[in-house]
Amino acid sequence: MDAVEKAREIIGKYCYEECKASCCRRGMLVLDVSEAEVISMDPKPGKDGKVVFDLGKQKCPRLGEDKRCIVYDKRPKACRDFPFLVSGNKVIIAPLCPLGKDPKLDFIIDILRKGGYTII
Ligand code: SF4
Ligand code: SF4
Repeated sequence: MDAVEKAREIIGKYCYEECKASCCRRGMLVLDVSEAEVISMDPKPGKDGKVVFDLGKQKCPRLGEDKRCIVYDKRPKACRDFPFLVSGNKVIIAPLCPLGKDPKLDFIIDILRKGGYTII
């Protein structure tokens, strides 16, 4: 398994137990209509064809009470990719995510580095 995939898998427990899925309750989610339909029964695209969810105003409707995603297997790519933006061997960690700020999560950064990635 690639180090980024492994890091995404490992952070999952922290996501719902400690972070309480803050990325599903904050920030903006910008999706194509087909992906937005996973989240909303009636997505309303803008002129650019994108559907914008302001999760700061209203948490994602697909976030369960237990802080787990109830459409996990069908969740949009932006959700699957989060909190990493990968370009070649470079990884940007989304500023919204405590990864990189919470020392408890340093071992995940180490996994990325040992896997050949540079954190920028
Ligand atoms: S912000 Fe980071 S730690 Fe928190 S739920 Fe999202 S991916 Fe997990
Ligand atoms: S679809 Fe799932 S992972 Fe994506 S914001 Fe909603 S609850 Fe979070």
